Amino acid sequence: MILRKKIASLLLVSVLCLGMAANADASEISETEKKAEELENQKKAAEGEKASLENQLNGILTEMDETKAKIEAKEIEVREKEEELVQAKIDENDQYESMKKRIKYMYENGNSQFIEILCESKSIGEFLNNAEYITTISQYDRNMLTEFQQIVEAVAEQEEMLKTEYAELETLQDSLIAKQEELNQLVEGKEEELKQISADLGATQERLAQLKEAAAAAARKQEELARLAKAQAEAQANAGSGGGAGAAVVSGNGMFTHPCPGYSRISSEFGWREAPIAGAGNNHKGMDLAAPTGTPIYAAAAGTVTTARYSSSAGNWVVINHGNGLQTYYMHASALYVSEGQSVSKGQNIAAVGSTGQSTGPHLHFQVMLNGTPVNPRNYL
Ligand SMILES: [Zn+2]
Repeated sequence: MILRKKIASLLLVSVLCLGMAANADASEISETEKKAEELENQKKAAEGEKASLENQLNGILTEMDETKAKIEAKEIEVREKEEELVQAKIDENDQYESMKKRIKYMYENGNSQFIEILCESKSIGEFLNNAEYITTISQYDRNMLTEFQQIVEAVAEQEEMLKTEYAELETLQDSLIAKQEELNQLVEGKEEELKQISADLGATQERLAQLKEAAAAAARKQEELARLAKAQAEAQANAGSGGGAGAAVVSGNGMFTHPCPGYSRISSEFGWREAPIAGAGNNHKGMDLAAPTGTPIYAAAAGTVTTARYSSSAGNWVVINHGNGLQTYYMHASALYVSEGQSVSKGQNIAAVGSTGQSTGPHLHFQVMLNGTPVNPRNYL
C-alpha cells in the first residue's frame, strides 16, 4: 500500500516537473513573441523613416530641377545683358566720335590747345575732366555723352548683379547636391538597418516556431503521461475492488511486451540465488518484478491460457502457451482475469500483482519456458 502511494506520488512529481518545464517554455515563448513584436515595430519605424527620407530626397530633386531651370534662365539674362552692354558701349563711343568731329569742325581754325587736350585724352572720362575747363563745348554734346556713359554704367551694374545672382544659384545648387548625397547616405544606412532588423526578425520567428513545436511536443507527452497515470490508477482501483481486467497495454518492441510496464525493478533475477525462505540456495526459474498489489499483469504475447488457478507455492498463477514450444508463467497474483482454455492477445490484462503462495511481498514472478526448460526472460523483452 505504501509502495503504491510512493509510485503514484512519483508519477505525480514527474507530471508536475513536465508542467514546470512547460511553464518555462511558455515564458520563453512569450519573451520571444515579445521580441518578435518589438522587431516588427522597429522594422515598421525604420520603413517609415526610410519613406520619409525618400520623400525629402524627392523634394530635393524637384528643387534641384527648379534651380537648374533658374540657372539656365539666369544664364540667358546675363548673356542678354552682356550684349546690351556691348551695344551701350558702342552707342557711347559713337556719340564720343561724332562729338569729337563736331568739336574739331567748330574749332579747326581756333584754339589749338583745346584740340591737343581732346586728342591726348586716353578715355572718355579723362576727356570729360579735361573738357571741364572748356566752356565752349556744346551743352548738348556734353549731356548726350554723360547720358550714354550713365547707360553703360547702369548696364554694367545690372550685368554685375545678374552674375551675382547666377553665382548664388550655383551655390544653392551645390548645397542641394550636398544635401542629396547626405540623404542618399541616410537612405542607404536605413536600408542596412532594415536588412539587419529583418534578419533578426527571421531568426526570432524561427526560434519561436521551434519553441512552439517543443511546447506542443511537451504537451503531447504530458497528456500521454497523464493518460497512462489515469489508466494505471483505474487498473489499480479495479484490482483493489476485485473488479475485472483493465485495458490492454503493449510496451517496447521486443518479442514479448513487458508484463508489468513501469515496474522494472527486479527484486530477484533469473538464475542462481539464495532462497529467501528455505536456507539453501536454489536456481531461480524466472524474474521477480517488485510491484504494488493490484498492479495489472499483461500477457507477454498472444496465446492460449493453459493454467489459471491457485497453488500453494505459485499462489494464483497463469500459464500461457504461445506455440513453438514457448510458454510464459505469471505467479503470486492477487486476482486472475482469465480462465483455462481462453485465448488472450498480446498485452491483455490477465491478472493483478499480489503476494499469494510462497512469497515475501507483492511481486510478479515472470517465467519463460522453452521446450519445458526455463530460459532468461530478458532475452524476450
Ligand atoms: Zn520468483
